[in-house]
Amino acid sequence: MRLPDDVMPTSYLMDEENGTLFISWTDGHESVHPYEALRRGCPCAWCAGEGGQKGSVDATTQFTNEQTTLYELQMVGRYGLTPVWGDGHHTGIYTYERLRATCMCDECRQARGVS
Ligand SMILES: [Zn+2]
Ligand SMILES: [Zn+2]
Repeated sequence: MRLPDDVMPTSYLMDEENGTLFISWTDGHESVHPYEALRRGCPCAWCAGEGGQKGSVDATTQFTNEQTTLYELQMVGRYGLTPVWGDGHHTGIYTYERLRATCMCDECRQARGVS
């Protein structure tokens, strides 16, 4: 799914109590990203692997509290953002398209056929 160029985040909210990141978008959508799922999906070479090399994070990885605590978000150009995690990890660039494709709101989950 290709995201239109003018769809980008307008604001975000880090809900520490529920461990969830909410992002508001220019098209009116509010996307939902639980911290742990976000961290598990980290696209950096170390976590996800690169060039056929297996990364260090998979579906069974146990994270520490620090690793799934979102410390801040840094914008990356006009196409993505990088979460800074409590353990200092900050090498994953999550493109807007990726964020929208992994949104966990009811609407998006239904659209993807995930219950
Ligand atoms: Zn990573
Ligand atoms: Zn959504």
